[in-house]
Amino acid sequence: ELYNKVLELKGNIRVFCRCRPLNTEEIASGARVAVDFESAKDGELAIRSNTHPRKTFKFDAVFSPQADQADVFEDTVPFATSVLDGYNVCIFAYGQTGTGKTFTMEGTHEFRGVNYRTLAELFQIISERQKLFRYEIRVSVLEVYNEQIRDLLASGTQPNVASKRLEIKQSSEGVLHVPGLVEAHVSNISEVWEVLQTGSNARAVGATNANEHSSRIHCVMVKGENLLNGECIRSKLWLVDLAGSERIAKTEAQGERLKEAQNINRSLSALGDVISALANKSSHVPFRNSKLTHLLQDSLGGDSKALMFVQISPNENDLSETICSLNFASRVK
Ligand code: ADP
Ligand code: MG
Repeated sequence: ELYNKVLELKGNIRVFCRCRPLNTEEIASGARVAVDFESAKDGELAIRSNTHPRKTFKFDAVFSPQADQADVFEDTVPFATSVLDGYNVCIFAYGQTGTGKTFTMEGTHEFRGVNYRTLAELFQIISERQKLFRYEIRVSVLEVYNEQIRDLLASGTQPNVASKRLEIKQSSEGVLHVPGLVEAHVSNISEVWEVLQTGSNARAVGATNANEHSSRIHCVMVKGENLLNGECIRSKLWLVDLAGSERIAKTEAQGERLKEAQNINRSLSALGDVISALANKSSHVPFRNSKLTHLLQDSLGGDSKALMFVQISPNENDLSETICSLNFASRVK
């Protein structure tokens, strides 16, 4: 409850910054660390490098390379569980390819990430509330690539079969929906990993580096009924592993590649524009500028809650991308 109050005071958007550790190759090649975590406990990090002036950034939380999946989830859980109280919630991972977006959201079998931990927590709360509420949970897995929406559950176990393209429709009551989208009903946590993996295996194939250039989205749809008074709630939790934010050199990109690069930039910059318009309480929020923001329209703003993980690399060689990501994150605050 206290957490919800803090959220309201600061607006409903929070930004966490997470830095991955140097990997073995970087250590072996003597890579230099350009990020300072001395004040991480106060939500601060600093750029420390000979090539750039010292600059500090402040976030709602900073996770140093030593933070593990459980540490990160501990601060994330209040966002995720709000969905059972009827709030729409969006959790994003933003950053350059290789900085740990997928590690944070999906994790690995050994080091499970926010997606799995959130669903485990939801089922835990559902069992604690079973005398008061009855809940129904369904999960969809989508990919937005090149301004096209694909249903990763529809292509099932055949990753090479392109699933049909989906469109966003608006009902006469103004509710957004995606006709034809597969919604997997999950009734316990052991069913969840399977559904998440099915989506994983069906990711875009055929285009170079499509994985890095697509945003992967898990949508958890909640229907709840209060058994005492019959009141119903409907809410959505969006878990979004965004496309890599690195700038693609203009000289590298031609034809389809160029179009793809422009579309990736379009959805990420549209997301930045939307979140910053919401944070600034601007009267116009440009949801329609990309498929991603259009999809999330009824789950961003209003009394919904959003959390953005800004993922960074500690390596001095990545510093210019790191600074771009930190600036992006500062802009959405
Ligand atoms: P992205 O999705 O942003 O491209 P990944 O999640 O694939 O990045 O991470 C790149 C590599 O770094 C992976 O091998 C991943 O396991 C590892 N990694 C990322 N973050 C961490 C972390 N916090 N701790 C340990 N390994 C990490
Ligand atoms: Mg990834």
